[in-house]
Amino acid sequence: MKDTSKHQGLRNQLAKVLKAKGIIDKNVLSAVRKIPRHLFIDSSFESHAYQDKAFPIAAEQTISMPYTVAFQSQTLEVEPGEKVLEIGTGSGYQTAVLLELKAEVYSIERQRELFKKTSLFLPKLGYNPKRFIFGDGYIGLKEEAPFDKIIVTAGAPFVPKPLLSQLKVGGRLLIPVGDKTQIMTLFIRKSATAFEKHELGDFAFVPMLEEKN
Ligand code: SAH
Repeated sequence: MKDTSKHQGLRNQLAKVLKAKGIIDKNVLSAVRKIPRHLFIDSSFESHAYQDKAFPIAAEQTISMPYTVAFQSQTLEVEPGEKVLEIGTGSGYQTAVLLELKAEVYSIERQRELFKKTSLFLPKLGYNPKRFIFGDGYIGLKEEAPFDKIIVTAGAPFVPKPLLSQLKVGGRLLIPVGDKTQIMTLFIRKSATAFEKHELGDFAFVPMLEEKN
């Protein structure tokens, strides 16, 4: 688990690329400069870690491209101490960004292999979510609801109702919706019954699958 000045240089470069693509949130950019992304992927592919690309991790899943992580993190508008539910722990890179933003993170992963791997790995780097959950993101996490923010990092064929209902009034759910490609969709809860919906462009995610595996 080595992190060198060369890696730091590549991260600074990546933050510049993301800035040029429209990421303006200073805290998100400093998280990108800080988190050693090369440690989140297989060491033989280390050279790819700081390109703005998605990459295969275990269990046929991918680590989202840095721009996507930065865009989702910026759009969530996380404030320190907020309770955030993340669906799709994956490599844990997005989780680390949320923790750098000082959120209290609950992260759900349905693939046992990734759940195990990442829940051991992240604390070694000093990243400690409130909870790692091996479970199905379609049902959310009722016992810890309501959440200030909910972020889904897999492509959802539809918007799961439990996620909307587990949101605080004033809270935000950010979810890519669609089959082959997805429309990044932001719901802001205005009252017990009213949600404002914003569509924020096309993205490509691995599919959100039901139940545990
Ligand atoms: N944020 C992660 C993204 C990984 S890809 C990263 O950047 O590394 C999406 C992840 O969502 C995969 O790990 C996949 O196993 C997980 N996933 C898919 N369907 C899910 C579900 N219903 N509940 C929880 N996690 C799910």
